[in-house]
Amino acid sequence: MTLGEIIAARIRQTGPVSLADYMADCLLHPVHGYYTTRDPLGAKGDFVTAPEISQMFGELIGLALAQCWLDQGQPAAFTLAELGPGRGTLMADALRAASRVPGFAKAAQLVLVEASPLLRDRQAEALAAHHPSWIGAVGDLPEQPLFLVANEFFDALPVRQFQRTETGWRERQVGLEGGALALGLAAEGAYPALDERLADTRPGDIVELCPAAATVAGEVARRIADHGGAALILDYGDWHSLGDTVQALKDHKSVSLFETPGHADLTAHVDFETLARAAADNGCRYTRLTPQGVFLERLGITARAQALAKSGGNETLEAVAAAHRRLTHPDEMGNLFKVLGFYPDNTAPPPGLEA
Ligand code: SAH
Repeated sequence: MTLGEIIAARIRQTGPVSLADYMADCLLHPVHGYYTTRDPLGAKGDFVTAPEISQMFGELIGLALAQCWLDQGQPAAFTLAELGPGRGTLMADALRAASRVPGFAKAAQLVLVEASPLLRDRQAEALAAHHPSWIGAVGDLPEQPLFLVANEFFDALPVRQFQRTETGWRERQVGLEGGALALGLAAEGAYPALDERLADTRPGDIVELCPAAATVAGEVARRIADHGGAALILDYGDWHSLGDTVQALKDHKSVSLFETPGHADLTAHVDFETLARAAADNGCRYTRLTPQGVFLERLGITARAQALAKSGGNETLEAVAAAHRRLTHPDEMGNLFKVLGFYPDNTAPPPGLEA
């Protein structure tokens, strides 16, 4: 049976499922899930991420986290963590750069939060020298200072969608129409979490909620508030998401949500306010939401690009310039992608970000 057939059979038995449940199955079904069965990254995959574009990205993140560690008095034991590390490229670049900061790499206990067994294998290869350990959920992160990065992780978490009516909200769900998977609307229900969206929506509008995002961000924030540390969260999205932002991507092209369940990447824009609120609720500070291009420029990506081009290693001048442009230019990833930082009371915000 294909994943589409499995989901259809379940719907026939127990009725329509929420969009979030559908997304969760498509992405992480233990046998047929998108991330369970493939490495989606790179030119041959379905999408390319910033660390796969250039080593500069991970290097600057590593140095920024190491600076936070210095600013907080170099805690002797701490967790260095990444959520959804993909091929391990970002963390390998980060640790190579940060090993210039005496004591940092040695004190770091590397913990990777990864659901996909296949990507865990890739990460094990890329990071063997740093003896990582893996956990499946942020709730299992150790109780000690936590320095963490998450790039394009939160956009992979399932979202629920609701359509506003004249009198309330109806959840969008996945059911069957003539035997095929199709979107429908559940009966009107009471959703107190959506009360605040009455101000910026009108009947007919769609809004999204990502319950998992709040939980994950809360676990991270609570550890930083309790033990010290910092988090850098990079993703595409904005302070508030409005409308249907769920998209399916296959071979670098957008496809229908129901065309090939489990074979396309499904993502949604990240609603950064949800993350910021989870930080505040857990006694942790958060920075201003900052465009990725501005953040990388402040961290010195231009100087790093010049040095790389001069050293003339594997990367030619043109390749370095093209990567710099892709990561920072407002027409490329510079503006669509945003950065939010978490940090404890009584410390400076992470480098490149403002309180
Ligand atoms: N950060 C990497 C990869 C981004 S792709 C990069 O920038 O290249 C998303 C990553 O998150 C993959 O590693 C995927 O397997 C992982 N992932 C997605 N949903 C997850 C979940 N619920 N729990 C843990 N890992 C998850």
